[in-house]
Amino acid sequence: MGVRENYLEVLEKKDQAAVRSGRKPEDVTLMAVTKLHTVDEINEAIDAGATDIGENKVQELLSKYPDVKPVRWHLIGHLQTNKVKQIIDKVVMIHSVDSLHLAQEINKRAGNAGLVMDILIEINVGNEESKTGINAEDLVPLVKEITGSCEHVRVRGVMCIPPYGEAPEESRKYFAETRKLFQELQQLDLPEDRAVIDTLSMGMSSDYEVAVEEGSTIVRVGSAIFGKRNYR
Ligand SMILES: *Cc1c(COP(=O)(O)O)cnc(C)c1O
Repeated sequence: MGVRENYLEVLEKKDQAAVRSGRKPEDVTLMAVTKLHTVDEINEAIDAGATDIGENKVQELLSKYPDVKPVRWHLIGHLQTNKVKQIIDKVVMIHSVDSLHLAQEINKRAGNAGLVMDILIEINVGNEESKTGINAEDLVPLVKEITGSCEHVRVRGVMCIPPYGEAPEESRKYFAETRKLFQELQQLDLPEDRAVIDTLSMGMSSDYEVAVEEGSTIVRVGSAIFGKRNYR
């Protein structure tokens, strides 16, 4: 099957999962994750209706950016502070903030560019040593520090990548855990201009339906749309 057919099939399954979770299809966004795929493939997804795409490396995003049709770009991979400047005016959201230092650099660059950047805090939900993201207990303090010091950043919620599992159901408990953290943030009394907690970024090709059932508001789907990636 081609990119268009794949995209439409994932969209349909995402919509059905949204309805199963008591929400409307449009309450859950499908992001097409485009890393290691070509500009032509990305444009095919956009022609099929993709509104949001995600890249996880700054260099790769920048190399494709000029040739991809107008779309909302998200940065979903680990971001080094020295690269923030290059993407600050190109992405609508950064999903992988894991330190005050990074948030402050985003704040500085967003300020210089005259904009407010939406960010998510990445949670290391399985407490895996090899993974990026912060531990659950550090979330509330970090969000308070960011909202206390960053006027050009708006915290929108949290993101997670659960530990690799053989079956989609194995991710469910991690998604439920992340949703709880998200709901905790919603209960906090945060300044309205610096935090609007409405975005829960979780679910990939193997488990996006489970993620939506557990409350995800944006799923990040790569290989189910574009086929398997050729790592070089
Ligand atoms: C690659 C990637 C995805 C998509 O992975 P698939 O399994 O191909 O759907 C989602 N999120 C992040 C952060 C990624 O790096």
